[in-house]
Amino acid sequence: MNEVQLHDVSFVPFISAQQIEQVVVELALRIDADYKGLNPILLVVLNGAFVFAADLVRKMTIPLQLDFIRLSSYDGTASTGQMKEHFFWKSSLKDQHVIIVEDIVDTGHTLHHLLNKINAEHAASVEVACLLKKPEAYQYPTPLKYAGISIPNKFVVGYGLDYNGLGRDLDAIYGKKED
Ligand code: 5GP
Repeated sequence: MNEVQLHDVSFVPFISAQQIEQVVVELALRIDADYKGLNPILLVVLNGAFVFAADLVRKMTIPLQLDFIRLSSYDGTASTGQMKEHFFWKSSLKDQHVIIVEDIVDTGHTLHHLLNKINAEHAASVEVACLLKKPEAYQYPTPLKYAGISIPNKFVVGYGLDYNGLGRDLDAIYGKKED
């Protein structure tokens, strides 16, 4: 893995593709076991979670549904805290077992905005699956049941995550060099 340059910023290797795959398999096994017979809806938060979600569902073996929501609160490398909703899920979530699939949980603002919306739909249950979390930045008490890797408060790209539009296609995760 080499350093990559995206726009004006250098990023260095942080989490390898092999390590990511191992974590995704572990999460898939846990979710499979917990949701057997429940046909959960995995609600994928676009854009960033598309790679994680694609890998996760292909490692899972139970029947499941997929739906998508597009949200954003980031501008460059900093969270604005201001949520933009671009479109919502199509399925009815009433009485459904919902798993929110997020790439990364940072402050938790995005997730909690979404949790409030889902709770208003009277889902049977709601849990969160995220590949990465930043415990130092997280500002809410809600536990993240299926969290992959805890990382320090640094800006990362790759495996679906971008820096101003670039880097989503990288198969591993890279950290901003100066962080
Ligand atoms: P939060 O609302 O939890 O602060 O931020 C969540 C969203 O911000 C994530 O879904 C992701 O889109 C974006 N985000 C948070 N941290 C990072 C990061 O380190 N790198 C990138 N590329 N996006 C991030």
